[in-house]
Amino acid sequence: MSEQLTLALSKGRILEATLPRLAAAGITPTVDPESSRQLIIGTSRPDLRLLVLRATDVPTFVAYGAADLGVAGKDVLLEHGGRDLYEPLDLGIAGCRMAIAGCPGALAAAQHRPLRVATKFEAIARDHFARRGRQIEIVKLYGSMELAPIVGLADVIVDLVDTGNTLAANGLETFETIQSISARLVVNKAAQKLDNARVRELIAAFEAPDQTVGAP
Ligand code: AMP
Repeated sequence: MSEQLTLALSKGRILEATLPRLAAAGITPTVDPESSRQLIIGTSRPDLRLLVLRATDVPTFVAYGAADLGVAGKDVLLEHGGRDLYEPLDLGIAGCRMAIAGCPGALAAAQHRPLRVATKFEAIARDHFARRGRQIEIVKLYGSMELAPIVGLADVIVDLVDTGNTLAANGLETFETIQSISARLVVNKAAQKLDNARVRELIAAFEAPDQTVGAP
């Protein structure tokens, strides 16, 4: 058993939403993770440290045991595949949905040929359309997915939608929601077995955010 538990957090909106949950459990970082350049951050709890990572790297760090626990979006977990990870808790934060969208009429126009799908979420898109028996061709992108249907790069996109403002601003419509997305707490399977009491205590702290961890 290592001396410190390591919790991996995703930069950006998940970090923003997770910090108040930690604070409610009496856990505060020793420096501000949103502005600090430190990659490993101590906390008010001597046996807990934080790693602040790019969202897509969180499942990898936890799966290999470089972090015992992590907070990551369900989108990132589905893309990763979730091997060697337990997912004990839906934190109900950073909520949005994974959707198929495009220019009006795009699905009908592509009815008799493989659908060209632009996305960063290749595994989610492939899995969804395979279950539908719909042949597709993936155009892998890393950002600004909304542009692809407008300039004719793809028939549709598979992307995260929050308010829907980005789609509306670009004249796109949602054809289907693939699934709801939120941030999840994930745990390394070995850490869950070997360090069970401390891991369970931290899971409980996330579950009941009004209780200070270690309080009598
Ligand atoms: P919205 O205009 O509020 O629907 O937001 C859509 C844009 O924000 C898209 O470009 C998405 O890729 C991105 N987005 C929405 N929700 C999330 C999220 N939970 N994590 C990361 N990016 C997101």
